[in-house]
Amino acid sequence: MRPTRLNRERAARILDILEQTHADADCALHRNNAFELVVATILSAQCTDERVNQVTPALFRRYPTPDAMARARPAQIETMIRPTGFFRAKTRSILGCARALVAEHGGEVPRTMAAMVELPGVGRKTSSVVLGHAYGIAEGIAVDTHVLRVSNRLGIARGDDPIEVERQLMALIPRERWIRTTDLLIFHGRRICQARRPACGVCPVFSLCRWPYRQAYALGQTPRIKARGRPS
Ligand code: SF4
Repeated sequence: MRPTRLNRERAARILDILEQTHADADCALHRNNAFELVVATILSAQCTDERVNQVTPALFRRYPTPDAMARARPAQIETMIRPTGFFRAKTRSILGCARALVAEHGGEVPRTMAAMVELPGVGRKTSSVVLGHAYGIAEGIAVDTHVLRVSNRLGIARGDDPIEVERQLMALIPRERWIRTTDLLIFHGRRICQARRPACGVCPVFSLCRWPYRQAYALGQTPRIKARGRPS
């Protein structure tokens, strides 16, 4: 999506409307500090936020700091996070991350994207979530499956690659809106623009959406959806 003046204005209109519609949009992962948000975000891969929120209270009670977590036995972590799925890989990521925080950052979560993405198990998406919601720092736009799908449908980005979609969104949207952009697109994707059955009839940005979706709704059809949620 080219960052022309018209495209920027259109993206701004979409975000304005979504801001009114989903004023309560926020990161749903329960946490008390940046470290807990890193761990919760790692656990949220391929898992619902609700399920993550069910396991983290006991996990954070037992291992409240990077230092405590770094010294944990892997089998104990695996048992505690098992309901979130992929528990062995996630345990490796959490332990590796905690050890790196202790060894290289004095037990603190760093405040730059460059340092965050060097942590085991932490990519740009997790980094953007943590920097944005723990520190209020906008260094990127977290692109998860909802952001990928909804931004493609609305025509504010094109493509299946989260890094490329993030690059397009960053070029189109002013930095001061980057943190909210993720929250708003995720909430819109969960509540209205769902993967299999987008509720176009009640969608507040219907008039700004791409033609295949408006056409399908006008014809009383459900758009045929590709894996990433784009019209076929
Ligand atoms: S009009 Fe339909 S496809 Fe477009 S954003 Fe709204 S719900 Fe999604």
